[in-house]
Amino acid sequence: MDEIQQQFEQRLTGLGITLSDSRRQLDQFEAYYRLLVEWNEKMNLTGITEREQVYEKHFYDSLTAARVTDFGTAASVADIGSGAGFPSIPLKIVFPHLQVTIVDALAKRIRFLEEVADILELKEVRCIHGRAEEAARTPEHRDRYDIVTARAVARLSVLNEFCLPFVRIGGLFIAMKGSEVEQEVEESRYSADRLNGSIRNVQHLILPGEGSERHLITFVKTGPTPKAYPRKPGIPLKEPLVRQ
Ligand code: SAM
Repeated sequence: MDEIQQQFEQRLTGLGITLSDSRRQLDQFEAYYRLLVEWNEKMNLTGITEREQVYEKHFYDSLTAARVTDFGTAASVADIGSGAGFPSIPLKIVFPHLQVTIVDALAKRIRFLEEVADILELKEVRCIHGRAEEAARTPEHRDRYDIVTARAVARLSVLNEFCLPFVRIGGLFIAMKGSEVEQEVEESRYSADRLNGSIRNVQHLILPGEGSERHLITFVKTGPTPKAYPRKPGIPLKEPLVRQ
């Protein structure tokens, strides 16, 4: 184990995470890092490739979701707009029992994630190429998941329509955001309400190494997804659910 891995594992304890099979899990993170850098030469996956930065700004940052709820007792997670696998792949490495479903509109990113799951030997990871608006219309995915995550995908008023339809009643949607979210959070109350979601809390945190700000906004699903939602692909982005 080198210094970066040692520091990473130590920082995870600050999130209440103790790796259950540390050696294997750290090897999986390292293999993920290597695949990310290798595939990034052929396609656009991330602007961050320096190893220490990837461990902090992608791996650690993804795992901050564990501050909100106990993933150890959840069964299913859906990650919407996962891109290169954040936050779902780090969560799956740390909580290997999770059934993970990934939805992303870009086929080549889905191919990358299938390769990651294969090489890292991650079981029960389903990668779906498609739009969230369509996947959430199918009975298999609608109102189903214990936890739904999204990092850096869209404004909350849009994101609520992408993500809340996947959450089971009583389940959580965790939106992972950067700094300055106050206005966006206020604006999102309307869309949450339309989708039978309600804000549970907003957590502020700071990345331990470089000190940048993050916010985790958690919504709880209070009832089934109303029939009208999500609207057709593209509409949530074009006509976000905001109070007129
Ligand atoms: N979550 C990753 C992260 O934090 O690094 C990726 C963020 S990337 C900026 C946004 C991703 O969301 C892209 O991979 C894009 O294809 C996907 N996306 C955007 N709108 C989507 C939609 N309606 N349905 C599914 N995926 C979508």
